[in-house]
Amino acid sequence: ISLNLRKQVDDCRPYIAGETEASVLKKYGLDKVVKLGSNENPFGPYENAKRAMKESLKVINRYPEDDYVELTEVLAKVNNLDVTNVALGSGAGNVIETVARLLIDEGDEVLVAKPTYRLYREVSILMGAVIKNVPVKSDFTYDFEAMKENISDKTKLIWLCNPNNPTGVINDRREIERFIESVGDDVWIVLDEAYADFINEGQRPEIVEFLKNKKLIVIRTFSKFYGMAGARVGYIMAQAPVISAFDTITEPFCVNRTGLFAAKAALLEDQAQAYRVKEFILNERERMSRALNERGFTVIPSSSNFIFAKLPDGFYSAEICEQLMAKGVIIRECDAWDYPEYVRITVGKKEENDFLLSKLDEVI
Ligand code: PMP
Repeated sequence: ISLNLRKQVDDCRPYIAGETEASVLKKYGLDKVVKLGSNENPFGPYENAKRAMKESLKVINRYPEDDYVELTEVLAKVNNLDVTNVALGSGAGNVIETVARLLIDEGDEVLVAKPTYRLYREVSILMGAVIKNVPVKSDFTYDFEAMKENISDKTKLIWLCNPNNPTGVINDRREIERFIESVGDDVWIVLDEAYADFINEGQRPEIVEFLKNKKLIVIRTFSKFYGMAGARVGYIMAQAPVISAFDTITEPFCVNRTGLFAAKAALLEDQAQAYRVKEFILNERERMSRALNERGFTVIPSSSNFIFAKLPDGFYSAEICEQLMAKGVIIRECDAWDYPEYVRITVGKKEENDFLLSKLDEVI
């Protein structure tokens, strides 16, 4: 039968999620699996967010109208913005998809760094965009000069991700600022800051200053720093007319009430704990980076909660990841990003990281 789908669907690739603990447990008949493949935070959600989730169940029969407003207000406050500068989505992924629907017309050119988070490409293609890939530089930072050279009068939007996924590499805030200014008002810049809470203070662009640029859209999520990946809460920050248009086309109430309750509690009551966990994760990241270096990996300096590293000579990502999986460790292979000699490893709990190291020593 002919499905008669939107014609761009043919050019989209299915999203390949990492393996889950349950699937690997079953596939290999293991009794222990450690998942370090999806950049999740093993410590969250924190105490008050969890309590708020339980509270939400008492009112889950109602649409979450008030909670939308409340979370938006809290987000605006903590970011020194007005409520008209913030809108919510069901995870950053849903926000990214809505932004693509908002901005992209068929035939528009869209710049996407290579490598970067793959969803930008898929949602842009679906809307009929022509993708221009701009490879990162040899130190894995963005090649802003090359981006500028690739801008044509058809360029509608540039997807930026800072820190970038899968590399964890951060771009200098002044360089981003200069780039945004130099691009001018004809091109939208969408800056995905899913991992920005892991950046050290001071290296992070000031959002208020940033949003003076009327063609900038910033996207964040509660999935990583707040450890709420399963709760599906993300948000967009932009100038008021953009937010108003976003809210017009977004699905009403696409964020669930449990996520909204939890996100608000996380922002208002769990900050201290979230920052303590961040310290721990960054320390573990450095410990893991050293341990990988000692094992012959080339570790790319990360500003996030994951590590992108080149395997020792002669080893390949798909092979190593498969072997590790059979031993109960899930990390992300990088073939889909055209980095077959690299792996992406999420920083987990100490015992999880140690488990990975011990299994690595069996396969490398
Ligand atoms: N952006 C980036 C760069 C990501 O890595 C991810 C998740 N892997 C997302 C967005 C989507 O996050 P969310 O769980 O909020 O949909």
